[in-house]
Amino acid sequence: MKGYTKFPITATDTRFPSFLQGFNRRWFAGCCEAVYVCYDAAGTAAALDEAIGLYGKNVKIKSGGHCYENFVFSGETQAIIDVSAMNACGYDPEKGYYLDSGGTNWSAFNSLFRDYGKVLPAGSCYSVGLGGHICGGGYGLLSRLNGLTVDWLTGVEVVVKDDADKPASVIYVSKDSQNKDEQNLYWAHLGGGGGNFGVITRYFFKDLPDSPSAAFLTQMSIDWSVITPDVLAQLLDFFTALANDPDNWRQFGIFALHHKAHGEIVMTIQTAVLQHEDPEVIKSIYVDHLLDRIGNLAAYKLTSKPAVTSLGGFIQPAAHTLQYTFYEAVQNLNGSGFNQRGKYKSAYMRKGFPMDQVNVMYKHLTQTANVDLSSCLLQVDTYGGKINTIASDATAIPQRSSVLKLQYQAYWSLEKNDADYLGWIRDFYTEMYAATGGTPNPECDASNNVDGCYFNYPDSDLNEFGGLDAALKLYFGNNLNRLKQVKQRWDPNNYFNSFQSIPVGDNII
Ligand SMILES: Cc1cc2nc3c(=O)[nH]c(=O)nc-3n(C[C@H](O)[C@H](O)[C@H](O)COP(=O)(O)OP(=O)(O)OC[C@H]3O[C@@H](n4cnc5c(N)ncnc54)[C@H](O)[C@@H]3O)c2cc1C
Repeated sequence: MKGYTKFPITATDTRFPSFLQGFNRRWFAGCCEAVYVCYDAAGTAAALDEAIGLYGKNVKIKSGGHCYENFVFSGETQAIIDVSAMNACGYDPEKGYYLDSGGTNWSAFNSLFRDYGKVLPAGSCYSVGLGGHICGGGYGLLSRLNGLTVDWLTGVEVVVKDDADKPASVIYVSKDSQNKDEQNLYWAHLGGGGGNFGVITRYFFKDLPDSPSAAFLTQMSIDWSVITPDVLAQLLDFFTALANDPDNWRQFGIFALHHKAHGEIVMTIQTAVLQHEDPEVIKSIYVDHLLDRIGNLAAYKLTSKPAVTSLGGFIQPAAHTLQYTFYEAVQNLNGSGFNQRGKYKSAYMRKGFPMDQVNVMYKHLTQTANVDLSSCLLQVDTYGGKINTIASDATAIPQRSSVLKLQYQAYWSLEKNDADYLGWIRDFYTEMYAATGGTPNPECDASNNVDGCYFNYPDSDLNEFGGLDAALKLYFGNNLNRLKQVKQRWDPNNYFNSFQSIPVGDNII
């Protein structure tokens, strides 16, 4: 199909409710009057013109619908530009591999892997949309090995509306664009996030990493019955050492610190086997060493009964490794979970966890509550490796010296429980960063440990710690000023806006 299809709201169209909600069931676009499903870039430009003409600044862009906050689906949303029907993947001899912004992590992986033997070092959860994910950074299990997805992004096709009196236009921007403004617009898409500058229709990559041929997945579960603050500290030290190791970029760890009500905490480590490598050799160098170190952990020895956990459908004892083809490994770790109500917060760390933070973690992860906290967790991921070889201002993402990335997560089903779950995650986070003013603010951290937050894990609460500018500084650091200049040039009317979008005409230095 070409152009776009407009779906005006009707009481009888069975599709309509599904257009108005995404992954987070807290958000619903209850006042939306029209959804524009776009099939190509020209159609997107035409849809944008009509929508802005009718609904002004209450037009939102939607790809996969996985935004953590209500930037797309809110009570103010009157029209939605839905790009999800544009999901092609291919190769352009001049501009390289391309992916349409309506694809998902899973569609992109399948096409790049199958057709070219290439991969994005992006997130794994299958249903996340490329529209928001890539331009916000795109970080995943291959990022220590290959960097962030935006580190590979060489061009963007985007529909801009930089003049209210002229039609929206489709432009291709890259670092080789003749015009400085266009180079800046390209740069802003290297982590500056969706919903800020225009409607992205296509991403381009002159080159991409080769796909690994296999992966070992090692998983260790520790039963909460043996966890004390000291045991937790030891496990976190082990995990931080793994993330700090300069010789293991092929290894990526996810440490899911589930609330005690869940029963256990789980560490998963992927070890990639690259093309032309012998898996047995990789196993003996990296995996056996890892298992030795795990075996020596007192915390591991403490686990009297072998905890069991399920990985890829098999029931396995704790601290177990299996070898998979790379496709299987991706399939095993690509779950997005149920659509539920959720709240998220993030933090980067350059060093490990001081004991006072471990104690705060222990307190909130073992706290009893009126509600079931078994689905709540703090996820600690390894960061660094190749990511930290890139300069802080080369992309919009300044965090290039951290080794850990944290994601606080609360999930629940019923609206009546909102206050309990929001209270749990807010109290946990504020106490973790009490020494730096309630957020991981690097400007307040004499120990040079915390390094702000990740825009792809947006958290509206951050605006309460010094306003919008302070919140955006946590995401973008010293790159914020350049992002504001780009915003002023390309969206001076602030058509693309949200609670945490880059502001127009606001203290540009
Ligand atoms: C289950 C789950 C797992 C995740 N895992 C990871 C992970 O492993 N790594 C990681 O880095 N992140 C991860 N994320 C975060 C994810 O990258 C962001 O939520 C991302 O913004 C989602 O993009 P989307 O297109 O699905 O969402 P949407 O809600 O459609 O969009 C998100 C934002 O981008 C804007 N946007 C969407 N499409 C476009 C477009 N075409 N042009 C311009 N702006 C657009 C929207 O207006 C909105 O502001 C995860 C999120 C979820 C829910």
